[in-house]
Amino acid sequence: MNIHEYQAKELLRKFGVNTGRGTAAFTVDEAVKAAEAQPGPVWVVKAQIHAGGRGLGGGVKVVKSIADVKTEATRILGMTLVTPQTGPQGKLVQRLYIEEGTAIARELYLSMLVDRETSNVAFIASTEGGMSIEDVAHNTPEKIITIHVDPAAGYQPYVGRRIANALKLEGDLAKQCGKMMGQLYKAFVDSDMSLLEINPLVVSKDNQLICLDAKVNFDSNSLMRHPDIVALRDLTEEDPKEIEASKYDLSYVALDGSIGCMVNGAGLAMATMDIIKLYGAEPANFLDVGGGATKEKVTAAFKIITADQRVKGILVNIFGGIMKCDVIAEGVVAAVRDVGLKVPLVVRLEGTNVELGKKIITDSGLNVLPADDLNDAAQKIVKAVKDAA
Ligand code: GDP
Ligand code: MN
Repeated sequence: MNIHEYQAKELLRKFGVNTGRGTAAFTVDEAVKAAEAQPGPVWVVKAQIHAGGRGLGGGVKVVKSIADVKTEATRILGMTLVTPQTGPQGKLVQRLYIEEGTAIARELYLSMLVDRETSNVAFIASTEGGMSIEDVAHNTPEKIITIHVDPAAGYQPYVGRRIANALKLEGDLAKQCGKMMGQLYKAFVDSDMSLLEINPLVVSKDNQLICLDAKVNFDSNSLMRHPDIVALRDLTEEDPKEIEASKYDLSYVALDGSIGCMVNGAGLAMATMDIIKLYGAEPANFLDVGGGATKEKVTAAFKIITADQRVKGILVNIFGGIMKCDVIAEGVVAAVRDVGLKVPLVVRLEGTNVELGKKIITDSGLNVLPADDLNDAAQKIVKAVKDAA
């Protein structure tokens, strides 16, 4: 789960972290009032969307008067902001953050993530902060330094010293860095974050270390112990299909292709997406209905797939181990009866109760193309979609 920059900064401040200070605004009036309550003489008007690269897309403006706060707030609020991370369709800006301007001496990069290879929390630091860390990673990877924290020992002062060193911070700034890294580590672990990115972490002209941006991702498996964080969820930022899927506990990720997939097991779902690509088409989604799916869950999953306008064909690929093929078949048939079927459907069933499952599909009289194995199924659906186009 993601949250907005202003929410992330509020959360970090609870752990003592020094961040840019500002107020969220939902209207131009609120933006102006927020700016008037700040000392000035510089304000930053920032679009709040769940995507980075806002500066590059014109969604972050540094201004020097309340009149300009008003002009920029009017321009940005309600705009469709296109950034390198939103995709070409962009994101509608519905919230702003009005922040006190900071006089920046240096822009640094800092992030934290759970490194799956080492099973540790890692800090990633670079002197090359600002807007395009992707370019730094590509062109000068040696300027990006990774420092792991041993989970048994927890955060230790030497970690902060190594980060200060990597960021070329000395004297009092190195001290501020050590303190801030300890606070960030605690915030990360206590809140069950999976990713925290501060870009830029800045040194101000009056020698303060400040988090000027903050992007946070939480481990969704831990949300049940953080009701306060769940309350920050902004559903308007999420794909409606993914919200619907989460109600049924389905692992669903919307993608850009034309073939909808309903699969059980993450590994099989990945393999199904791969083989669709191998035969020259693109998957419209990742969907794992899980091992213990009920008929209702399968019906919901099928409805989510068919509601997607991009879907030109559906591939159901189930290996029934714990999951029984007849349950899947009943769910598919019920869903098709309910919402109809306007695109080709290929069903490949294997495993427990496979004969019963196939019989349910055949007896239903629905226009379903049966398939014997994954290879056969993928070729059939790709061909059916091409023929229909
Ligand atoms: P992003 O583009 O979505 O990552 O948004 P950021 O919050 O990182 O803002 C983009 C850029 O705007 C930063 O890298 C800074 O260069 C600039 N910026 C943000 N806040 C301030 C500020 O208070 N003062 C100044 N001078 N620049 C700022
Ligand atoms: Mn940024």
